[in-house]
Amino acid sequence: MASSANGQDFDAVIVGAGFAGMYMLHKLRQAGLSARVFEAGDGVGGTWYWNRYPGARCDVESLEYQYGFSDEIQKGWTWSERYSAQPEILRYQNYVADKLDLKRDIQFSTRVTSATYDEPNALWTITTDKGNTVHARFCIMATGCLSAARVPDFEGIDDFTGDWYHTGDWPHEGVDFTGKRVGVIGTGSSGVQSIPLIAAQAKHVTVFQRTANFTLPACNRPLDPAVAAASKQTLLEDRKHALTTAGGIICFEYNERLAEDFTEAEVEAEMKARWEAGGFAFLGAFGDVMLTKSANDKAADFARREMRKHIKKPEVVDLLLPNDHPIGVKRLCLDTDYLETFNAPHVELVNARATPVSRISADGIVCGDKEYKVDAIVFATGFDAMTGAILGVNITGRKGEKLKDKWAAGPRTYLGLGSAGFPNLFFITGPGSPSVLSNMIVSIEQHVDWITDCLSRLTKGNLRVIEVKPDAEDTWVAHVNELAATTLYPQANSWYMGANIPGKPQVFMPYPGGVGVYGEKLAEVANADYDGFALGA
Ligand code: FAD
Ligand code: NAP
Repeated sequence: MASSANGQDFDAVIVGAGFAGMYMLHKLRQAGLSARVFEAGDGVGGTWYWNRYPGARCDVESLEYQYGFSDEIQKGWTWSERYSAQPEILRYQNYVADKLDLKRDIQFSTRVTSATYDEPNALWTITTDKGNTVHARFCIMATGCLSAARVPDFEGIDDFTGDWYHTGDWPHEGVDFTGKRVGVIGTGSSGVQSIPLIAAQAKHVTVFQRTANFTLPACNRPLDPAVAAASKQTLLEDRKHALTTAGGIICFEYNERLAEDFTEAEVEAEMKARWEAGGFAFLGAFGDVMLTKSANDKAADFARREMRKHIKKPEVVDLLLPNDHPIGVKRLCLDTDYLETFNAPHVELVNARATPVSRISADGIVCGDKEYKVDAIVFATGFDAMTGAILGVNITGRKGEKLKDKWAAGPRTYLGLGSAGFPNLFFITGPGSPSVLSNMIVSIEQHVDWITDCLSRLTKGNLRVIEVKPDAEDTWVAHVNELAATTLYPQANSWYMGANIPGKPQVFMPYPGGVGVYGEKLAEVANADYDGFALGA
């Protein structure tokens, strides 16, 4: 690798080769910039490379959960299901990577360990666990919001004599649970998707549930070829539309009318139609579901009534129905036969709220004084979301400041894109942007396009450095917090709030104002020559 006169190896280093890192690489190449991607996995795909558990599939419809930047790419791919399964999504990502010849600039099986800003040279020095040290003007974190898989630090795990797995780091060769007693800890989206399939195979399944979640019918089905074909004619236009919406999704609309503007019969009819259609449409039944408790209660009551219809074992009904948080404030789950799974005699539900998992023994899971014997454990226990993977890299900015120290009380960014004191460092779908509250691919493309325009502006203007101004960051952080406080989101112990990680500061991390409004702000900032950023030579 030939370094330039000032020691620069690449214009940019990109960390991660999921949807974000792949598209970022493509755009930088198009802009004439050199880039190297480092990826911990041995292939592209990110989420869809790691999460190979049974039942893993998207819950934003496939016709929208795909790239929207290239007509050729979208026309060359046909999805088979309304919500495609992990192997198909990973095949799609490889298809895109090969079509764009991305892999030659990606160094796989390589984890970035540190990124240090070299102030005199205005370069980032990036080191990896494979012994690389490279220097680049820009460091772009495409590390993912849900990529730092987390196994709770249960005492005794090392003594467990069976096999254990985390859904977010699933063996590539798959796992055969036939004839086994399996313990599953966690009932978020990953648990809800995997438990029915694990139960279809295993001899006995014990599910340890700390919080019952709202789960909506996915109503997954094969995609009608006529619908798939029609979508190819409109995808690029549809994507422009998606960018103006709150969630980056157009297959349903959020009703603007408030719950109180409907009659009881209308409320019921609206919710029923949306519930039966499947997917997240239900949450858009009326405009104030996420804003007022009374509106939310209507939706939550309806959901509980519908969920109850699927549960036949009287002893688990009350346990499976969520009653300690408003609907939607923890990420909703979409399911196929999840609740029905608990009707089977070999599936047992343990109330891990009343009696928490206290430790893992040599041959089981212990709650209080009761041991549940299992041959295998599945941790569907989630991620150190939004900040885990970023802070997994030892990032040092100006004057030796560590990002982890700066974010000790919660992440601080301007627009979710950068943080003051860390010049030329970008986050894709970082905390403070719509990110995990949206169709992530729409938000990824929104960020990557903006970052590319920004870097082109710097390059053309012979400017080497862009840095968030502290006051712009303070104003943005305050704005995100104020907005979150007008919603019901802070009313749950969710990973959006950092509540799933003991000791993690509890602040609402994503921007809840919607993709469309946020996009207008991004455009306004760029049009004002990157207002809120300091640009320097
Ligand atoms: P990722 O796909 O997470 O990729 C990040 C990559 O960075 C990973 O491959 C990781 O190995 C790598 N990396 C991290 N740190 C380092 C390091 N230090 N060095 C080197 N490499 C590193 N979103 C939706 O909108 N719709 C859905 O239906 C949906 N379904 C999901 C299902 C599951 C099971 C999960 C876990 C998430 C889902 N998401 C969904 C969110 C999903 O994460 C995003 O949609 C999207 O895939 C994120 O892409 P990304 O490139 O930003 O991050
Ligand atoms: P998650 O939503 O954080 O769920 C983790 C589960 O583990 C929760 O039920 C949690 O309980 C439980 N848990 C954690 N620590 C525990 C402990 N010490 N003892 C007992 N229970 C414990 O994680 P996830 O299911 O992997 O999903 C994360 C996100 O990824 C989703 O919200 C979604 O955005 C995305 N995802 C999407 C899909 C999809 O359908 N496309 C599938 C999977 C994931 P508490 O709730 O009480 O904390």
